[in-house]
Amino acid sequence: MKWCCERFNNLFSEAGERGFAILVEKNTFGLTFLIQCRSVKEISDKPLNLNQPISLVSETGILYCPWCGVRLEKYYKNYQNDILGNQKYRIKHDLK
Ligand SMILES: [Zn+2]
Repeated sequence: MKWCCERFNNLFSEAGERGFAILVEKNTFGLTFLIQCRSVKEISDKPLNLNQPISLVSETGILYCPWCGVRLEKYYKNYQNDILGNQKYRIKHDLK
């Protein structure tokens, strides 16, 4: 598998860690790419005692690589088994 660029590869490997990461999912639309930001690596079962609500995980879909500009679904279509198999975290319900 050939990554579109090193920066994309680096953020893909950061999935599940605190900070920004790239996640990939295959659904009925094909490959879906998300850029995600986690405030904490793992979310505790104990509620945080804060005066106002905060977002522990934020994410949004992306169509193009933010660094090199390739159309992600098209570029990774032939590598989808590799990229899905290498993913440490799954999209959405992996909040712990
Ligand atoms: Zn790229």
